[in-house]
Amino acid sequence: MALHHASLFLFKEKNLMETVTDYFGSLVFNDDTMRERLPKDVYKALKKTVAEGKDLDLTVANSVANAMKNWAVEHGCTHYTHWFQPMTGITAEKHEAFISPAPGGKVLLEFSGKELIKGEPDASSFPSGGLRATFEARGYTAWDPTSYAFIKDDTLCIPTAFCSYSGEVLDKKTPLLRSMEAISDEAVKLIHLFGKYDVKRVITTVGPEQEYFLIDKKDYAKRKDLIYTGRTLLGARSPKGQEMEDHYFGVIRTRVSEFMKDLDKELWKLGIYAKTSHNEVAPCQHELAPVFGTTNIAVDNNQLTMEMMKKIADKHGFACLLHEKPFAGVNGSGKHNNWSISTDTGINLLEPGESPKDNAQFLLFLVAVIKAVDEYQDLLRISVASAGNDHRLGANEAPPAIVSIFLGDELTEILEAIASGKDIEGKGKSRMELGVHVLPSIPKDTTDRNRTSPFAFTGNKFEFRMLGSSFSVAGPNIVLNTIVAKELKDFYELLKDAKDFNKAVHDLVKKTYTEHQRIVFNGNGYDDAWIKEAEKRGLSNLKNSPDAYDHFTDKKNLEVFAEFNIFNSSEMFSRFEILNEEYSKTVHIEAITLIDMVNRQVLPACIKYTGEVASALEKKKAVAPTLKFASETKLVKELSLLIDNLDSEVTKLEKLVEDSSSYTGSDLAHYACNKIFSKMGDVRKYADALELIVDQKAWPYPTYGEMLFYV
Ligand code: ADP
Ligand code: MG
Repeated sequence: MALHHASLFLFKEKNLMETVTDYFGSLVFNDDTMRERLPKDVYKALKKTVAEGKDLDLTVANSVANAMKNWAVEHGCTHYTHWFQPMTGITAEKHEAFISPAPGGKVLLEFSGKELIKGEPDASSFPSGGLRATFEARGYTAWDPTSYAFIKDDTLCIPTAFCSYSGEVLDKKTPLLRSMEAISDEAVKLIHLFGKYDVKRVITTVGPEQEYFLIDKKDYAKRKDLIYTGRTLLGARSPKGQEMEDHYFGVIRTRVSEFMKDLDKELWKLGIYAKTSHNEVAPCQHELAPVFGTTNIAVDNNQLTMEMMKKIADKHGFACLLHEKPFAGVNGSGKHNNWSISTDTGINLLEPGESPKDNAQFLLFLVAVIKAVDEYQDLLRISVASAGNDHRLGANEAPPAIVSIFLGDELTEILEAIASGKDIEGKGKSRMELGVHVLPSIPKDTTDRNRTSPFAFTGNKFEFRMLGSSFSVAGPNIVLNTIVAKELKDFYELLKDAKDFNKAVHDLVKKTYTEHQRIVFNGNGYDDAWIKEAEKRGLSNLKNSPDAYDHFTDKKNLEVFAEFNIFNSSEMFSRFEILNEEYSKTVHIEAITLIDMVNRQVLPACIKYTGEVASALEKKKAVAPTLKFASETKLVKELSLLIDNLDSEVTKLEKLVEDSSSYTGSDLAHYACNKIFSKMGDVRKYADALELIVDQKAWPYPTYGEMLFYV
């Protein structure tokens, strides 16, 4: 009897223990689920379509849709949505119920292949940069069958691309998929020249490291700047900042750790390989890194991760801040975009190989990336430009605004030896002949990696470190894939008819490195000397977003996107408009939020407090007319002076905002940057000075100290 009880207890206990393998991907209509639920021929047909990138046959789609619906309904879903990524960089969804009327006032649950493949979101209010007039608002979304459908909020979400009926691209997914195809096509041709005919496709892989802040939800709710703009527009520094460096990799506080566990679990259910969590440099700042994956899936997963972070944070009484610079004087948040290229046969093309042939191939791909980054510095810079990220780039906490590549000493030495025809040190002083000699080994992941480089080679991948934390990683990867595709294509043309292939590769690597080595910089990117040096090298230094955007439609940029059918020229110009518009709007909202806070919170609080001190002073003087009350007198004077200054600066800001109505497009963006944004700094100076001398109890919103050190 006792035994029976014990085993029953054990059994129960076991049932209660849900392991990660049990729930991983449970909310995803993934390969296993498809194989299990689809008729064999349908499953095969779907796999084939995905592998070959073809259109889906309608009968197959009907069958898939039905299985998907049944699976979703069993998991409690009532609705489905086409989940897409408009040009704003966030995700959008329009929910449709599965229901359809049945005779006798009953209801049927339906979902057809047509509804799966194509949707019409009537998304006339999404920015299109003039591509789609509102009166012909029709655009359609199309399923991306390479990214699995998933369940969120009892809704079946179908990852889709978004286009206008005349075929113009209205989202970030379509160009991303096209850029992946472009680089695949070009890379495969080149790899075939090395005799590797088994390679049919090449995929780019991405692992985005996501930084974020967690603060108390109650504090968040009291600050209009956080609510409306995602960052604090005001706030004096707290007595302690991040100078003690005691937060980085520090012990994670219980409340935060509970959040992280919960977040991991929800992400795992969605089939996202959330892997590493740790504290970051700033107080309240953290990072989450997933295992890398195919680019379009990594993009979808990162969008979902950001969404889940906000949602789970709320559940735990936190507000999750994804803004690039939530707090002045405290480290901002970025997103490292780890990027590589691998073949469908499992070879990472940015991994030095073991045979002479593989080495040569590796160096060829490597110099293709070097050339691409050098020739399209401006496009990479633009792909990470935003009002939020302007606070970081070049501000000595993130890479500078100048794009350069870190290769590490070993690789640089090898390339320099090839370029100069000199011997390589060590290794018995041998001359490197590509295709004949084996490369000296290149250490992977050296521990003292250069953290100041915007674009660093880290052993078998590049790490593009300029992205802001709130970014969709689609944009930077569209650029990366396209510009590297361009160089690979040109390389193929140069090599395809070579009589002595080894020699041709050697010469091409040598020539390319020689011509583009100016982009390689292994030193300290925060050093002022680098800015001068970069200027001497002729590298571009686009200091703010509007300056960067101005180069978006440069001839060479229009050409490269057109060549690979990523964006045509009208799509480029529409994007240029959207970039500027988004920038101007962001600054505008910040400015009017700041004006509101100053006029309705800071000034009234300060005036009231000054009045209290002054009338107390009056009363004291009446009692003791011979005394000076120097401290109170000084305080009242100081407060009054700062109040006057603050009022005068905010008045100037109001005027500037008013005058902005006479500008449009990129002129407006430059105006917002040079006039409005800089004036906001003047306003802040006086408000923050007041914060430091006004009674803490009288201050109208939570201070930096309260927000950053009391979580
Ligand atoms: P660190 O913080 O030192 O840069 P992390 O381990 O936090 O390193 O992040 C490294 C990221 O790089 C991870 O997301 C990892 O999956 C990703 N990564 C590793 N190999 C590749 C690859 N071949 N392609 C793309 N991303 C990769
Ligand atoms: Mg990193």
